[in-house]
Amino acid sequence: MSTAADSEIHWRPTKVEIDIAAFLRNVETVRAMLPSGSRLIAVLKADGYGHGAIPLARACTRHHVAMIAVSLLEEAMALHEAAVDIPILVLGPLTDDQIALAAEYEIVIGVTGPEMLETVTEVAKRRRRPVRIHLKLDSGMGRMGLVESDLAPATELLAHAPFVQLDAIYSHYSTASDPSHPHAARQVARFREMVGTLREAGVSAPLEHMANSAATVRSLVDPGSFVRVGMLLFGGESLDSGKSALEPVMRWTTRIARLKTLPTGSPVGYGATFVTERESRIATIPVGYADGYPFRLSGNADVLVRGQRAPIVGRVSMDLVTVDVSDVEGVALGDEVVLLGTQGDETISAEELAERSGTLAYEVLCGVGHRVPRTYIGG
Ligand SMILES: *Cc1c(COP(=O)(O)O)cnc(C)c1O
Repeated sequence: MSTAADSEIHWRPTKVEIDIAAFLRNVETVRAMLPSGSRLIAVLKADGYGHGAIPLARACTRHHVAMIAVSLLEEAMALHEAAVDIPILVLGPLTDDQIALAAEYEIVIGVTGPEMLETVTEVAKRRRRPVRIHLKLDSGMGRMGLVESDLAPATELLAHAPFVQLDAIYSHYSTASDPSHPHAARQVARFREMVGTLREAGVSAPLEHMANSAATVRSLVDPGSFVRVGMLLFGGESLDSGKSALEPVMRWTTRIARLKTLPTGSPVGYGATFVTERESRIATIPVGYADGYPFRLSGNADVLVRGQRAPIVGRVSMDLVTVDVSDVEGVALGDEVVLLGTQGDETISAEELAERSGTLAYEVLCGVGHRVPRTYIGG
């Protein structure tokens, strides 16, 4: 379908710019935080937290990144098909069919429960070829992983599974960023105890990993163990509000598509929730909740125009947002509008949008819709 004219067509002006160089600088900054012998597993699930997993994975090298972790088999397969040559860990959970497929594609399987371990064992036996796994223990998150009562049957299974290659044992923190929370220390103790139980029964792995972004920032990383880091690589604050001084990677922009002057007393947008209190310059921008710009930001966020903050007024629509640009000197049709990122001296962070819409920076970044084209710079 592509024609010579395609490259000259300018599609919608709403786009996301991904700074690969900033991402790689974040990779280096995270690596510099690690104790000796520790390596980075870059977590690129949910399409690299909305940034695009494939271009980011392609920018990584084995030298800097030991593994790439994703959640779904589909995500792992997409990286595999894109010829990413860094080992891929799928965090799961996987169905029986998916386990067989993962083994075939030499994707490293995060085993999250006793049923998965049984299937992995069967698949490995049938294939008579090594299946690499990382075994997850539930040290206190309460979601996935083996609990104490699963350990004896697990060791029994692994004792008779010569083709199952246990590369690592891992777990996941739930409160890593809060130094005053006693749970992180409890999780470490429980993990150590479970690893000890496995070892006494003859099951051990050359590698362990437990730390996410928050734990890495807080240096809760044992020398030699790997870290599974996502959010830090995107310059955001991590889930349990571990602050980071890393660079944002995503910049989300559009352009003013309609600019008008409305008299005092004019309602704007669905529900007429906003009414002008003065003669106002109202800019309409072609982006909406169908692009992942949260409806809950209705009347409750700023965008950047000409390096200045301007408030959103009225409701966020599916495809349109209205902005009061009365105080922006020289504002013109076609001006760049920044929804997320920096313009001049001002920045709108994912944390700011998350706070105003009652969610997490994670959800804001992952939520940027697939119909917003990504462009990559600095690669
Ligand atoms: C998402 C995820 C991570 C990464 O979390 P960040 O807070 O983004 O660093 C690590 N481990 C597991 C199991 C995850 O699901």
